[in-house]
Amino acid sequence: MYLKQLRKDYFLEKYVFINSNLDINLSSIVNDNKSEKVCSLCKNTDKSNENPKTVVDESVKSEKFNDSDTNNLSLDQNIMKRFYVSDVSHKNLSKLSVDKIQKLLLEVQTINKKMISDDLKNIQIFVNSGVLSGGNPMHNGFEITNLPIPSPILKNEIELSRKSIFDLGICPICRIINFETGGPRQILSTVSFLAFCPWNSSHPFEFWIYPKSHQYSFTSIDNNELEDLAQILRSTLGGLDNVLNNPSYNIVFHNSLNEIDSEIHWHIEISPQLSYNSGFENGFGISINSLAPEKSAEILGKASRRELASLVGVI
Ligand SMILES: [Zn+2]
Ligand SMILES: [Zn+2]
Ligand SMILES: [Zn+2]
Repeated sequence: MYLKQLRKDYFLEKYVFINSNLDINLSSIVNDNKSEKVCSLCKNTDKSNENPKTVVDESVKSEKFNDSDTNNLSLDQNIMKRFYVSDVSHKNLSKLSVDKIQKLLLEVQTINKKMISDDLKNIQIFVNSGVLSGGNPMHNGFEITNLPIPSPILKNEIELSRKSIFDLGICPICRIINFETGGPRQILSTVSFLAFCPWNSSHPFEFWIYPKSHQYSFTSIDNNELEDLAQILRSTLGGLDNVLNNPSYNIVFHNSLNEIDSEIHWHIEISPQLSYNSGFENGFGISINSLAPEKSAEILGKASRRELASLVGVI
């Protein structure tokens, strides 16, 4: 039996997704992913299809804590949809060809557009890769999920982006691109995208990929840009694999929630999972980064440029 709920903090704007198997064996909570023997994605997919995707529909209850009667929570029924787009193989994204990654990205874009046209809101695209990424430890792919509430992280980014546009008259992400292009934190620059380690990287080798032109969503990019994105993703992830010997990581896409009113310059954030939080970090809410982003960018830049050169046949 499963319990799936979205629970809001007692008074803060913080949420937790309860995705609980009530019959669970307690010992499997620790390192649960590692105990998986059969790939949950392969179990249900048709292997003859080149780009398989599974569709899971789930009901989620959105709940507010009510301290007068904890058993009588106010409920709001919403539908949560999850799509999974991946290659048939168990290869990491960083080991696939640029052509295959481009096909996956196109499929993700098609599903995202369809979800928007079906009036599904608050869509998040992400990738979990490796045993510490929190996802399927065997099968690499893109997950596209919607929730009944907007992502608090994205909401915050949108609000601050709007404030910056109001105060300074320019999109903050366009400003960051101008500032970081050719600087000490640049990893790779292609026709349409810039990869760099942010000035305030939380962890070693964290990096972001920004589209150079001001666009509101991944759904708005054309085929040439998709190919360019596949190439920069493949080169940087390949570089990351070489530097850190196949680390676990998460990739998240931050798109505008609203198509008509483009709220934010869309972008991608990649976070390698390399360590656990310390008491300092949990207490202050401030990350400790043990490697300067400039040094991460220098190492990752070299490795990514080598990957790109081998992909385009220069070496
Ligand atoms: Zn699999
Ligand atoms: Zn912009
Ligand atoms: Zn972001």
